[in-house]
Amino acid sequence: MICIECRVENPKERLYCKNCSRILEPRNELWLRVEELQTQLDKNALSLVRTTGILPYIVNQLLVKPRERKLREVISSQGTRMSDLPNLEALVPECAYAISLEKLPSVYAITMAGAPNAFTFGSDDAPVIVVDRRLMDVMSTSDLRALLGHEMGHIKSGHMLYHSLAQTLAQGVEVSASVMGLNVISTPMHLALLGWQRESELSADRAALVSCGNPADVVSMFAKLTGAPRFSVTDRSSLLDNVDNLFRTHPRMSERARAVFEFANTGEYADITKKNNYRRMFRLAFQPVCRFCGSAKLIGAAFCQVCGKSQI
Ligand SMILES: [Zn+2]
Ligand SMILES: [Zn+2]
Ligand SMILES: [Zn+2]
Repeated sequence: MICIECRVENPKERLYCKNCSRILEPRNELWLRVEELQTQLDKNALSLVRTTGILPYIVNQLLVKPRERKLREVISSQGTRMSDLPNLEALVPECAYAISLEKLPSVYAITMAGAPNAFTFGSDDAPVIVVDRRLMDVMSTSDLRALLGHEMGHIKSGHMLYHSLAQTLAQGVEVSASVMGLNVISTPMHLALLGWQRESELSADRAALVSCGNPADVVSMFAKLTGAPRFSVTDRSSLLDNVDNLFRTHPRMSERARAVFEFANTGEYADITKKNNYRRMFRLAFQPVCRFCGSAKLIGAAFCQVCGKSQI
């Protein structure tokens, strides 16, 4: 596959360009659109904060950007890169592909202070996902798929700037901004941002579901994040009935778990799954070699002329 961005030739099995990290599949109508993931409240809130125009821009330049530069320095000096994390290196492109992310984010593992967590920061064109090493030790492959899918859902939805704003404000930088003589952000705006941040998690959870394909896996990931005791994946059938019990100390997590199960039962989710299955089928069919015997074949041929097997 030749990358349409940088023209570098890539091995046929790659989903993303080894040189510029762009997706190799040309954009098509089967790509997941961002509106298919976002909850209505997230959409409304995001367009509201966007219409406030210049204020987020100023806060971003003065407060968020410097913090992020610092964070980038710390992560790249103390973190382990994705290329040195064999269990993540294969998963990251698969999760990104599942939600049609155009570019692969950088992923780092680091040991954090406090409760183990994962987060995403950076601008829309250079996002960074950071995962606590301790999570990687306790999470199964499907948990990690859900975790990466969640973080990538924030990237897909363009949440990072507003997350950074909300976090910067929550840490009291608002005070230093007014000291600097800038009345940068109003109280209603501040509250809107914090309220929206909660809502944005629900959209990202939908991306987690699309990425791992099973609501029980998303809930299992939540359980690992909260350190829920004695979580058993054998009990999946009754998982929905048990979420309140499972997340007794984290009521917000049981709400999120319910929302994930609810979304998994909608026609919207069924449509996304159908589209993704078609996409995978076409990807396999439109390869220059047979996926069974490896013989050269016409790119559009559904059957191999050598072994006769269907490529779909
Ligand atoms: Zn490229
Ligand atoms: Zn999140
Ligand atoms: Zn063949």
